[in-house]
Amino acid sequence: MSHPDSVEAERWRMAAELVDGFDDGLNICHEALDRHVENGHGDQAALRWLGKSGETRDLSYADMRALAARFANVLTAHGLQPGDAVFGLMGRVPELYAGALGTLKAGMVFTPLFSAFGPEPIRTRMEIGSATALITTASIYKRKIAAWRDELKSLKLVLILGDEAPEGCVALGPALGAAAPEFDTVHTAPEDPALIHFTSGTTGKPKGAVHVHNAVLYHAFSGRHALDLTPGTIYWCTADPGWVTGTSYGIIAPLVNRVTMIVDEAEFDLDRWYGTIQRERVEVWYSAPTAIRMMMRTGAEAARPYDFSSLRFLASVGEPLNPEAVTWSAKVFGKPFHDNWWQTETGGIMIANQPGMEVRPGSMGKPMPGIEAGIIDRAEDGTLTELGDGQVGELALRPGWPSMMRAYLHEQARYDKCFVDGWYLSGDLAMRDADGYFWFVGRADDLIKTSGHLIGPFEVESALIEHEAVAEAGVIGVPDETAGEVVKAYVTLNPGHEPSAELERALRGHARKALGPAVAPREIVFRETLPKTRSGKIMRRLLKARELGLPEGDISTLETDES
Ligand code: ATP
Ligand code: MG
Repeated sequence: MSHPDSVEAERWRMAAELVDGFDDGLNICHEALDRHVENGHGDQAALRWLGKSGETRDLSYADMRALAARFANVLTAHGLQPGDAVFGLMGRVPELYAGALGTLKAGMVFTPLFSAFGPEPIRTRMEIGSATALITTASIYKRKIAAWRDELKSLKLVLILGDEAPEGCVALGPALGAAAPEFDTVHTAPEDPALIHFTSGTTGKPKGAVHVHNAVLYHAFSGRHALDLTPGTIYWCTADPGWVTGTSYGIIAPLVNRVTMIVDEAEFDLDRWYGTIQRERVEVWYSAPTAIRMMMRTGAEAARPYDFSSLRFLASVGEPLNPEAVTWSAKVFGKPFHDNWWQTETGGIMIANQPGMEVRPGSMGKPMPGIEAGIIDRAEDGTLTELGDGQVGELALRPGWPSMMRAYLHEQARYDKCFVDGWYLSGDLAMRDADGYFWFVGRADDLIKTSGHLIGPFEVESALIEHEAVAEAGVIGVPDETAGEVVKAYVTLNPGHEPSAELERALRGHARKALGPAVAPREIVFRETLPKTRSGKIMRRLLKARELGLPEGDISTLETDES
């Protein structure tokens, strides 16, 4: 591979061996599709789609490349240029995946959005991203876009899945059918923008993180060395591409590593999920704590009828994975979930319980090879000190890996603030133990200060979840005259348990025993559900705002029943 201007080419030598590149550039689509076909793997299954109502569609690498090429031709034929912004807004169907890759093939920039977003979050993001084209469905278009479409002046083209399109839009069926299945992939430069991902909005207004084609080096590398993806692996990433996990590890990393991806159109359903693993012989499974806790809630019994012997490696991301979930999964699936940590900003997995490494339940694992992580104290005056093992501070990374964001769209100052003294500051708090394992403490914003103690919500939540009655917990600090703040917990219960004053007392007693009186929650309230982002993260800031009667802030990513 020979693109001399790639960032830190030497450092990413291992990654570089996994991709081809051009003499004069690098393009994610070339690495994900084209070269596999050129190397004689066109017939291998790239994507097996499981439709909501039981139908399936299989696409080989050659099929995917041809479909991506048709997309690239359609976009180009409508006057779009390299660098233009193409948004994807639909459920998990093969056209979403091929549309993303076709956009990259044509040198354009792709932004996936959750199809369940309401009109406002969609509009805001398309405005921020100056969308030129949108790939969506007729139903979504009519309900969420049509009313304001004309006001978004940048938007030139709306492609509609299927054979018919509302006025002013183009039907994809005939357009793709008429387009040639060949397209010379644009030789983008390694630093050309490829993807814009909006963050989950857990802590506030979502940011648009800009990622470049060179990121593919790190996707290739981390797919191989954090998720154990090898050619031919049957792999299922349960994340939607509307969230960075569903693109970095739901499209790019798996295809670059030439796996066969399972794509499930449906939302979480326990029997469907267990059945999918058994029937499709899934080998590597990448999911999230919110789903794992839902499985735990149903109990090990529900999993017993299924054969999970195909599973080789299980990984989890997005939120801290409670130790309880790790031991539970080892029992039920025969393999533990391997927690890993990263952010929209980092574009790829930074810290992981890596294949072959001893799993420490409750730990995020160790930094990936080539990634330098530190625990930092930031003084009032802004100076940074690196902390030693066992101390809690802000988790920071030495920038320079290929999938790191290159900007927050239109927010230079916010971006600049992330970098101090040669560190990228993550906004998360963590601790490193003497063996180099990193332990998540909480988001800096969620930290609770009570009677001189600093408490991360995660340890309190994990202790509560160990109680047989508790399914999920969200913990916040509420102001208190004497202690500064006191710990308050919101919990949902497992089936067979009902809220009662007695249970509340029992839970407080359980937490006091596990955590000590200073850290245990002073008050526990029962809830049917906890507020979560669409990517499945508990929104503690919302629990807190509601508790204090404050404005709810940006809730554009809050999960609702709307779809
Ligand atoms: P926003 O930045 O908009 O507030 P967000 O931080 O939730 O939202 P993402 O980039 O999707 O947006 O999520 C990254 C964050 O998720 C991390 O900073 C961390 O707080 C949390 N996270 C991800 N993986 C883990 C993990 N394995 N353990 C603990 N926390 C994790
Ligand atoms: Mg964040």
